[in-house]
Amino acid sequence: MTDTRTGQCLCGAVAFEADIEAPHYHACHCDTCRRWGGPGMATNAVSLRIADTSALRAYGSSDYGERVFCGTCGTHLFWRMKDGSVNVVWVGALDDSDDLTLGTEIFVDSKPGHYSFAGEAHKMTGAEFVEMVMKTQ
Ligand SMILES: [Zn+2]
Ligand SMILES: [Zn+2]
Repeated sequence: MTDTRTGQCLCGAVAFEADIEAPHYHACHCDTCRRWGGPGMATNAVSLRIADTSALRAYGSSDYGERVFCGTCGTHLFWRMKDGSVNVVWVGALDDSDDLTLGTEIFVDSKPGHYSFAGEAHKMTGAEFVEMVMKTQ
């Protein structure tokens, strides 16, 4: 069954529909996510439909990935592979995410000591996560 979620940025210039893979998300503690305003809390989308992409802006934050945001209001929306093969949707941009649960914490070795998430989600270091991603590519 397809789990379709709607979402938008603060100003409404970017509205989207995402078919999410599973009703949980990951939290990323990497330096880049935290500098972008994180920790990054995001869920994998198997497909993503954006009504109007004219306000979308993308920043290439690594050789393979880019961070996508609204150029008008600055809302953080997606992380995606530059080749379009993976789309990850920021949970905060979804209209309704109350039922989602934290599945995995990644880059736990980059997490500073001044915050932590409740519960016992699966935890992976940056090296473990990158190794897993490379195996599935
Ligand atoms: Zn906006
Ligand atoms: Zn990250």
